[in-house]
Formats: sequence, structure tokens, C-alpha cells
Amino acid sequence: MKALYKPAPGAGLELVDRREPETGPADVKIRVLRTGICGTDLHIERWDDWAAAEIRAPLIPGHEFYGEVVEVGELVHDVAPGDHVSGEGHIVCGMCRNCRAGRRQMCIRTKGVGLHRDGAFAEYVVIPGENVWVHHASVEPEVGAIFDPFGNAVHTALAFSLVGEDVLVTGCGPIGLMSIAVARHVGARFIVASDVSPARLELALKMGADAAVDVSRERIHDVQPKLGMREGFDVGFEMSGAASALPQMIENMNHGGRIALLGLASEPYAIDWGKVVTHMLTMKGIYGREMFETWNSMSAMLQTSETLRSRIASIISDRYPARDWRAAFDAAASGGVGKVILDWTEL
Ligand SMILES: [Zn+2]
Ligand SMILES: [Zn+2]
Repeated sequence: MKALYKPAPGAGLELVDRREPETGPADVKIRVLRTGICGTDLHIERWDDWAAAEIRAPLIPGHEFYGEVVEVGELVHDVAPGDHVSGEGHIVCGMCRNCRAGRRQMCIRTKGVGLHRDGAFAEYVVIPGENVWVHHASVEPEVGAIFDPFGNAVHTALAFSLVGEDVLVTGCGPIGLMSIAVARHVGARFIVASDVSPARLELALKMGADAAVDVSRERIHDVQPKLGMREGFDVGFEMSGAASALPQMIENMNHGGRIALLGLASEPYAIDWGKVVTHMLTMKGIYGREMFETWNSMSAMLQTSETLRSRIASIISDRYPARDWRAAFDAAASGGVGKVILDWTEL
């Protein structure tokens, strides 16, 4: 099979022939049709300090995918050849305290598809049957390929109840944008988005935000009275990892506000802990997707909302045949606004 392969530590990838992966008794083999390119994949391709510390080569990267099942192991139930599927990329141990309590997203021994074992930038990928998510027929291949980051957005957006609440979203990359669409879908009152990119802020409005704040020119605080808000935000999603974002969010929360944090900071930073205490704020870290409640929520919401479906699909900005992976990676690295998709039926 063709695969995008890193043969040894160092920068670069090559599209080469590799042996097809073998299907163990608890595994499912999937013919990959589309993949998304993630920031993580760019780190692996460039082989920066993070990749050198976290990743072992040789490796086939790639963890955002949609494909068709071609083979199932004898121990696998409820997945059959011909099913259209995506895969949860976090493979858990099944035996630690959290796994055994059903909190598998909190496994202390998680391994990542395309990070710690071969991934989906290939014609075939093999994952455990329990990591397979079978799509209903109406999910388009490209949207299926971004269920992994869409799941990050849904996990964040559903961390706290949003019905009738005022929501602040700091950071409008693809996951931040999708979290706005989900917050709108589930019944938030006002949604305010912040970023420093005019193009991203424009998209935030298309996702359903009521106001978009360029924090390089305007204060979030000044937007609240324009919307008729009087007491601050009830819920915050920190999606940027920028050192200035969480301090600004804390300034703008109502007492008792709840904050879900997905953005990863590159360095530790200070916040006003006095406000966290006296304003009785709740802060919750978000990583990956709940297994598999987030997947269920994603499928269910897309199934019944044409608006949400078209907003999530609109996050996809570029499509390339897999053979043009270099151009696709360059497009993804250029800081454009949307997700880049590789088509593995065009090699
Ligand atoms: Zn990813
Ligand atoms: Zn575990």
C-alpha cells in the first residue's frame, strides 16, 4: 500500500510503498478514503522539539480519517465490512482505574494512533474494534475525516450546560469555530468570539457568534453592553493557548462562571487566582473526546441539524489528492483558516 512515511527521526515525510497492516483478532482494518491534517501532523513532519521528544520513528502519522471497513477480527462485534467509519485515535489500556470506571478519555496509559503506532496517512489503517465509530449514511466522507477535531469542539462545548447562557470563546481556529457552531446549536443565548485574525473572526460570525472581538484593537468588556449583557459571561471556552486569553476571560466572567480549557499553552503563564477564588470560578481541562459519549453527540447533532452540518462542513477549506501531500501540508502550515483534507482515492 501507499503510505506517507517517516523512516527515521528528522524532518520530512515520503510517500512510499509499505506492507499492509495485519488485522488482529480484536482489530478492524479500514480502507482510508479521506484524512484531515492536524497541527500535530505538522509538528511530526517538521520534527520540532515536541516531536523529537514525543514521537518514535519509523512511523506512519495521521489520526483524523474516514474510510470503509474491509476486514474485522473474530472478536469484533457490531462492525462489518462495508461500514463507513472513523476512529477514536486514543487507544486506552482498559485496566487503569479510569478505564475500568468507564472514563476512558482519562486513561493514564493512552497511546495515539499516528503518534505512538502507525496511523491513517495510508491506504489502510488497523485499529482496535472498540475504537471504531460507525457513521450513519448521511455523513459525508470529508466531514467524517474531521470527527476527531470536531469531537474536541463538542467535548469542550458540552462540558457545561449552555442553555440560555452567555458564552465567551477565545481563539477561532478550526476547533474554536466548531465549538461556536455547537454552542449555538445547543441553545446558548449570546456567543462572543475573540481572536486577532480578521478572517477567523468573520468565520466566527458565520458559525453563529453574535459578536466577534479583535482583541488587538478592542476589549471584550466593551462588547458586553452592546449585546445587553450586564453581569459577565456564564461559560468560557479557552481555545487558543495564548498567554493573554485566559486572564482576559477571567476578567469577563460572571461570578460562578465555568471555563472549559482546550488550548494548549507553550509556556506556563500567570492568572489572577484571587479572582478565581472570590468569583468562585470552575475551570476544567479538556483533552480528546469522551469515549464514546462525545462521538454519540456528534453523530446525533449532525443527523438532525442541517445548519450545524453545513457549518461544520464549511470548516474544510482545501482538498488535495494524497499524492500532492506536500502542497497540502504547506497549505495547512500557512496559517489559513480551515481544515485541509487529503483524498486517498487519488494517489
Ligand atoms: Zn488532530
Ligand atoms: Zn487506562
